[in-house]
Amino acid sequence: MRQNSFYLFAPLGLIGLILVFLLFVTMRLEKNIEAKIFEIATSDIFSITHNSAHSIESLLKGSEDYVQSVKKYASIQQKIEEHLNVLLTSHVKYAYLLYRDERGIFRFLGDASLNEEKSFIDQKFDVDSPEWLTIYSTKEPLIIHHTLLHQLSLSYLVPILHNNRVELILAIDFSINKIQEINRIIQTIQNGIFGMMGVIILVLLFIGIQTKRFSSINQSAFIDKLTNVYNRNYLQKYEKLINLNEYIIAALDIDYFKKINDTYGHDAGDKILTQIAHILLQTIREGDSVIRYGGEEFLILAKVDKKSNYAASFAVIERVFHAIQTAEFFISDTKSISVSVSIGVNLLAHQAQNFQEAFKQADIALYTAKNSGRNCIKCYTNADDTSTKTPF
Ligand code: GH3
Ligand code: MG
Ligand code: MG
Repeated sequence: MRQNSFYLFAPLGLIGLILVFLLFVTMRLEKNIEAKIFEIATSDIFSITHNSAHSIESLLKGSEDYVQSVKKYASIQQKIEEHLNVLLTSHVKYAYLLYRDERGIFRFLGDASLNEEKSFIDQKFDVDSPEWLTIYSTKEPLIIHHTLLHQLSLSYLVPILHNNRVELILAIDFSINKIQEINRIIQTIQNGIFGMMGVIILVLLFIGIQTKRFSSINQSAFIDKLTNVYNRNYLQKYEKLINLNEYIIAALDIDYFKKINDTYGHDAGDKILTQIAHILLQTIREGDSVIRYGGEEFLILAKVDKKSNYAASFAVIERVFHAIQTAEFFISDTKSISVSVSIGVNLLAHQAQNFQEAFKQADIALYTAKNSGRNCIKCYTNADDTSTKTPF
């Protein structure tokens, strides 16, 4: 039974592991693809913006105050505008040059926007996030993400340094509509992976169920339906695996069982068999086994412990014997009878050549028990004889 739950839970555990792994792979894949596509979509525009920033810087190099120079010379303003205009594309809607005044307010120094959208020099520019200010400490280009519903919108800021201090900021605002396509691709990949996961789960479940079915079919082939103990098939299949050094073998046979059947009916006989098996299962220890090898014949394999304590194993057989002797066997709801058994024990199984021989010796002892008037335990002895004495 314990084995069955293993067959069920092992595939389930495996499914869980595979799911976690696939989820992890999907997430990693998604992140990588997104990062890669973002890089492809932005690398050109970023490098062009860098070039423009560089050109503007070269334009202003040599002047004491960049901001004042721009404000003062129309020719510089015009050149700056040309550099900004170069940046406009279908994705880049705005390109502008900013500075921060003494009060920390951002103001325009140039704007590539057209007509009425165009900001004039010194016009105030409201920044929407304090993130903008980090560029003054890092002095590195900065990407600011804006979350618009359907498209990825970004501001890309490139600092223009003067005396190792951020003097101007070249900014572009652009949107990557491609991100929608990216999401579609990622969605397709995700769907594919989830579909695969579904198939894998189904296959594993199928394997798990089949394995469980197979194992329970297998199991039931070895269990006696009436008494719920192992049957003769089990013995035939596994007898070669029984280590004779580890067990004593007892053959148990119900006394006058035919008479019980004849007197009370076959159903009553079945009830007795069930109750005997129940007593056997209740009395044996973990590691001991009970096999119904004949109609009203049972085999008990009682484990001998590491210290070769045969007395402890023999005591199990005695307990079985006494439990049956003292039990009331119900053959109907109201009527109970006493039943006795004869038991032949082979304490010398370890000396036998094989299981069949060891079993035969237990059977010889059982035969002796029957001949001695039944309702007793007999042990097989080396003299190929049986001893009537209890050995311990
Ligand atoms: P002994 O004391 O010598 O063992 O005598 P016995 O009557 O027990 O032995 P015998 O071999 O003559 O009879 C065994 C009987 O067990 C015969 C058979 O009908 C009965 N039997 C075998 N299997 C079953 C079963 O599954 N159910 C029932 N009710 N009876 C069974
Ligand atoms: Mg018999
Ligand atoms: Mg019998």
